[in-house]
Formats: sequence, structure tokens, C-alpha cells
Amino acid sequence: ILKIEDVNKSYDTGKSKLHVLKGINLSINQGEFVSIMGSSGSGKSTLLNIIGILDEADNGIYELDGFPIKHLTEVKAAEYRSRFIGFIFQSFNLINYKTALENVALPLYYQNVSRKERTKKALEYLEKVGLKEWAEHLPSELSGGQKQRVAIARALISDPKLILADEPTGALDSKTTHDIMKLLQDINNEGKTIVVVTHEPDVAAQTKRNVVLKDGRIESDEFIKQIVL
Ligand code: ATP
Ligand code: MG
Repeated sequence: ILKIEDVNKSYDTGKSKLHVLKGINLSINQGEFVSIMGSSGSGKSTLLNIIGILDEADNGIYELDGFPIKHLTEVKAAEYRSRFIGFIFQSFNLINYKTALENVALPLYYQNVSRKERTKKALEYLEKVGLKEWAEHLPSELSGGQKQRVAIARALISDPKLILADEPTGALDSKTTHDIMKLLQDINNEGKTIVVVTHEPDVAAQTKRNVVLKDGRIESDEFIKQIVL
């Protein structure tokens, strides 16, 4: 589903240049469940942002679903993102003044889906994550785990091929982490490709392949025996 070849990324920090990704090669097939680990500052989020077309590599090749991703206009990048990718973040990134239902339905609003259809689908996805009864609640009335379920439903509603999650369990306790990872495993078993950045070895062990970054390079990349929840 995606192919990265010899990708480099540097940040210009005024005086000096910070070389964050140094010749990354990574191919991920449809249906994989990949975790990316590495110490703080090793470039995990930078890599995930490039995969998610939120940022662009300095050079090298990046292809998503056969499309070369290079020098896209912001409009084109946004179109690709909404077509191919669902995002999940550590801090949930829900809109506080919108209900769970409205948050989940939001991606469809940008795709000009009718209000009736948006509500129907959002309810369907809230049910999928076990939150149908919470549709009319605001994020402030939900627990961390429930908020992340809303975010997952929102990531899934456009039926993207690829789900990208940056520390999705970083703000959750271990029981809630277990429940969220179980949900991600279920979603992966339905055929979705998932890439999750995590610093928790337990979380990585619940995926099917583990990539470790060190100083901007891939230190190891191996298929692992998944701990099924
Ligand atoms: P963490 O585990 O702390 O989230 P990470 O592996 O996700 O770390 P990145 O966020 O990819 O690390 O950052 C890698 C390096 O690039 C860090 O040194 C960071 O300070 C730097 N960096 C990241 N984004 C920017 C930016 N927009 N401008 C300048 N430097 C940046
Ligand atoms: Mg990070």
C-alpha cells in the first residue's frame, strides 16, 4: 500500500540543520499492522507525518497506493489524505463543542455527504466502537478511552485504506490501552492497514511487525508473533 525509498528529512532550525530521517526504506503491504518504536527524537512522528502527507520528505521516493507523493499542492494533499488516510492522535484531537456524533461525522461534511447520510453513518461507526449511547455527549463528558473510540470512529468513517496512529494509547491507563488495542486488532482483522507509533513495548507486541528507528535510521524491522487480545 505504501513504498518509501531512501527518504531524507531535515529541519532548518535557524543556525543549524537537523538531519532527522537518514535514508529510510520502508514498504508496507495492504492488511499489515506495523508498530514504529524508537527513543524520543528518533524521528517517529516525522516519519508518520510524511506517510500521512502532513509533511514532505526532502528527497527519495514515497508512493501511496501507487500514487507518487511529491510536491503536492495543499488542496491535492488534503484530497489524498481524506481519500486514503485516517488519523488517530495521542490527544484525541476532538472538537470540544461538537458532540461525539458530530465529531465522527465531520470528515463526511468535507466530502459533501448529505446531513442525513452523515448522521446515519456516524451512528453506525459509533456503534462499531461501542459508543452508540454516547452519540449526543460532548468530549468533556467522555473518559479518555471513550474519546479515543470517538477518534477511531472518525478515522474510520471515510473508509480509508490506511490508519495512522501517533501514540494512540499514550494518554490512557493500561486497561484502556488494552481495550483500544483490541479494537485496533479487530479493525486490522477486517483488512485495514494500520501503522502505530508507540513507546510501549506491550503495545508494539500487539501488532504484527515492529520497526525500530534510531537516530533517523531503521535499526530493525521484523515481523513478530502478535499477542492477540
Ligand atoms: P517523541 O517520541 O518525543 O514523540 P519522535 O521520535 O516522534 O519523538 P520527532 O517528533 O519525529 O521525534 O522529532 C525528531 C527530531 O526533529 C526532534 O529532534 C525534533 O525536535 C525535531 N523536529 C520535529 N519537528 C520539527 C519541526 N517542525 N521543526 C524543527 N524541528 C523539528
Ligand atoms: Mg513523536
